[in-house]
Amino acid sequence: MNCLFCKIANKEAPAEIVYEDERVIVFKDIHPRAPLHLLIIPKKHIQSVAHLESKDQKLMGELFLVAKKIARGKKIKGYKLIINVGRPAGQLIDHLHLHLLSR
Ligand code: 5GP
Ligand code: ZN
Repeated sequence: MNCLFCKIANKEAPAEIVYEDERVIVFKDIHPRAPLHLLIIPKKHIQSVAHLESKDQKLMGELFLVAKKIARGKKIKGYKLIINVGRPAGQLIDHLHLHLLSR
């Protein structure tokens, strides 16, 4: 599959990885829009929130728990979590990702 984020998850494309576990990987956004701008993705290819299936429920919860873990680890007090769904909303990469932004 020609998916950039799958390639990053499989270490076939470079990225500054800041966290990884069995199902989730987190790396720095290449064009940060805040002093801290991370992308939290499932290793499994899911195109977008619009393509979620009920079996993905636990995995989606894990993405948010990873966001919390990173924020705690970095002692960030406040942050934004953003998910763009679909091209009109600004989703450019068709692999579900959570933006974590903090000033
Ligand atoms: P979207 O607009 O799809 O919600 O967000 C895609 C994000 O991926 C953008 O913020 C963009 O800067 C980031 N991005 C695009 N290409 C790369 C890349 O090759 N490496 C990394 N680390 N981030 C990327
Ligand atoms: Zn993918």
